[in-house]
Amino acid sequence: MSHVSVSKSGTRSDARNASLERHAQRFLELRRGLEQIEYFCKGTVLKRMMKCGKAQCACATDASKRHGPYFELTYKANGKTVNVKLSPEAAPLYRAAARQYRKLKTLLSRLDKLSKTILRQQAKLANPDARIDQKPGLLRYPRFKQSLKTARFALTA
Ligand SMILES: [Zn+2]
Repeated sequence: MSHVSVSKSGTRSDARNASLERHAQRFLELRRGLEQIEYFCKGTVLKRMMKCGKAQCACATDASKRHGPYFELTYKANGKTVNVKLSPEAAPLYRAAARQYRKLKTLLSRLDKLSKTILRQQAKLANPDARIDQKPGLLRYPRFKQSLKTARFALTA
């Protein structure tokens, strides 16, 4: 950075540092949120009223006479839907845990977004002379037509 005029590059990197500092603070705040997370569980708790299947039972014709409620935790694992039966007592526990899971996911995606912003800024600070037309954090390397092996051979030959 020594070859760039001091005042100009100084202000620019000060502004970058301030912005980086703000983002770093926000990261710490969000990360503290992780500690607030209680037991969590992926999925949704469903409440179901069921037909028993007996033709003579009232539930067969009257929806209000269906049996239940029955509770189920449902979630996807490896692309398949999994249903786990829950007792009426367990249902509120799992419902709360499912809420915690959603909270955790939101928190993680915010942390991920923020981390990427911070990493981009850190990369810029590490390489202040980077050309403006470069996408942040990405360098376009030239396409090598030769394989690494032949290139090395050409260098030593
Ligand atoms: Zn029935």
